[in-house]
Amino acid sequence: MKNFSLSTLLRENIKNIRPYSTARDEYSGVALVNLDANENPFGAVDGSANNRYPDPYQTPLKQVVAQIKGVPANQIFLGNGSDEGIDLIFKAFCNPGVDTAIICPPTYGMYSVSADINDIRCVSISLTEDFQLQTEKIMQAIDEHTKLIWICSPNNPSGNLIKRADIEHILNNFSGMVIVDEAYIDFADEPSWTLSLAQYPNLIVLQTFSKAWGLANIRLGIMFASKEVIAVINKIKLPYNLNGIVQTLAQEILEQHASIKDIFVRDILHERAWLVEQLQQIKTVQKIYPSDANFVLVKINDAHALYLYLVANGIIVRDRSKIELCEDCLRITIGTHEENVLLVEKIKAF
Ligand SMILES: *Cc1c(COP(=O)(O)O)cnc(C)c1O
Repeated sequence: MKNFSLSTLLRENIKNIRPYSTARDEYSGVALVNLDANENPFGAVDGSANNRYPDPYQTPLKQVVAQIKGVPANQIFLGNGSDEGIDLIFKAFCNPGVDTAIICPPTYGMYSVSADINDIRCVSISLTEDFQLQTEKIMQAIDEHTKLIWICSPNNPSGNLIKRADIEHILNNFSGMVIVDEAYIDFADEPSWTLSLAQYPNLIVLQTFSKAWGLANIRLGIMFASKEVIAVINKIKLPYNLNGIVQTLAQEILEQHASIKDIFVRDILHERAWLVEQLQQIKTVQKIYPSDANFVLVKINDAHALYLYLVANGIIVRDRSKIELCEDCLRITIGTHEENVLLVEKIKAF
């Protein structure tokens, strides 16, 4: 990328911010007596060890994540879902009411919601009909206030990977931050952009444990970036952003069950192929968009009516029919075989 300078890019107030220093920041060893954090010395009301504040930087958990993902721990931020990461990126880089971000709809809704909450204007450069980037239009839309470009790959709700060459072009020619949201990368047949972190100081990659890992309930998202960017994010995050129960549980799960994820992914891809084949045989289905994720976008006659019919039959899919480029489309998550069979039956009966 041209002329990248992290300190120029950061908000002035963030650049010089002095973060809250927790009791755990000031002393992190094992002591005989801990009287520094106003904790209850007797234990928790249930007799557990939940009376103690957790590790603000999740050091042991991060080590496990670093090993699984092949990225050094100092280039990792763990958050309360990737949604926390999205919010912190706006907070770090965008002056409210002044700076802007480019988003490429149809895409994940949280980028613009988080931007709105932070009073950041989003400039929308739609994807093409086949859900790829309009790279030249994006480049033309950049001005001195553009701090961020959000790219979702595989994209939600379309399901497809965004072409590497287009993302590379933007990384090379934009001196702001480029965020590649890889929530669905575990289902895709392409390497993660984390492999390119050393090459691009303006790259941020988001991943999550909510999808392929089956851990949506524990809320654990990951941000990967240069160690300089991660240091800034660590300064502005809430002091104890991940509770200790999640840290311990996640560490245990990742140490013991990492290979289960691959079995899940294999089964879901198998089911996706089955569902696509079934849907292709249904007359009212006009188009099934190619998917690199655990869902398919399906163009179907009278999608909204079908959506209501499915709801009435206890099957909830995502109605995307009012969204640009998704007219008459439903987004269907790949379920278990039994669930998919039931879905196909109901669509046929509609
Ligand atoms: C599901 C999803 C996320 C994950 O959010 P979490 O907060 O980690 O559960 C992030 N980005 C996209 C595009 C998603 O679809």
